[in-house]
Amino acid sequence: RLAADGLWHSFGDAGVLRDVSLSLAPGEILCLVGPSGCGKSTLLRLLAGLEQVQRGSIALDGEVIADARRHVLPEKRGVGMVFQDFALFPHLSLVDNVAFGLAGRPAAQRRARALEMLARVGLAERAQDAPHALSGGQQQRVALARALAPQPRLMLLDEPFSNLDVRLRHHLRAETRHLLKEGGVASVMVTHDPDEAMFMADRIALMRAGRILQAGSPAELYRQPATPFAAEFFGEVN
Ligand code: ATP
Ligand code: MG
Repeated sequence: RLAADGLWHSFGDAGVLRDVSLSLAPGEILCLVGPSGCGKSTLLRLLAGLEQVQRGSIALDGEVIADARRHVLPEKRGVGMVFQDFALFPHLSLVDNVAFGLAGRPAAQRRARALEMLARVGLAERAQDAPHALSGGQQQRVALARALAPQPRLMLLDEPFSNLDVRLRHHLRAETRHLLKEGGVASVMVTHDPDEAMFMADRIALMRAGRILQAGSPAELYRQPATPFAAEFFGEVN
């Protein structure tokens, strides 16, 4: 369970997050949407521990992992991350890429788990290949497998499909939703695509200028937009 409370953030004089709070139940998928520059990635980076909390707090399963005084390091948070540039290690095979996230476990166990995860994203036969031998969509599947392999408490995804063509994006969002649900992991996914949010999310948080304007189920945001801005944002969804 994730609970972020009263997060404020600025870069220099520029206020980027203004009193952002959100909570997430185990297994729930929350999509963050909103215009470019509204603070979506910054919020995700705070949750990940890539950015220091200035004001407010973040708790995971009841334990405060970040506030103005406390900063649990990213690798100690049990958080899995997938970003738009796949960032696989180019010199490692796929199986070694996935096993990388499992440091500290016996080698045989790491390999078995990595192969299991590759099988789950349909790439078991490619285990020994290098990342550059794969398509963009395949690489993103491996990135997903790598992030999920250690069974994180929280998954953070920042525009994971935005570098992919439309058909692949549609295919991958169904696949990704299935994988996240199967793992029962709480997930926060950033997307600028309202259609994608409608499809992926259990709940959607619409952001604008550093604030969450409205949060609710996809149906709520679509049928009962609280502001003209929300109505317009989701008006294009088909
Ligand atoms: P996009 O949809 O374009 O990815 P976003 O909602 O993810 O946008 P952020 O990346 O969170 O937006 O950026 C929010 C604001 O903070 C922007 O005005 C951006 O220029 C600024 N910003 C982000 N990171 C930094 C940084 N490291 N230093 C200074 N300003 C930053
Ligand atoms: Mg962003």
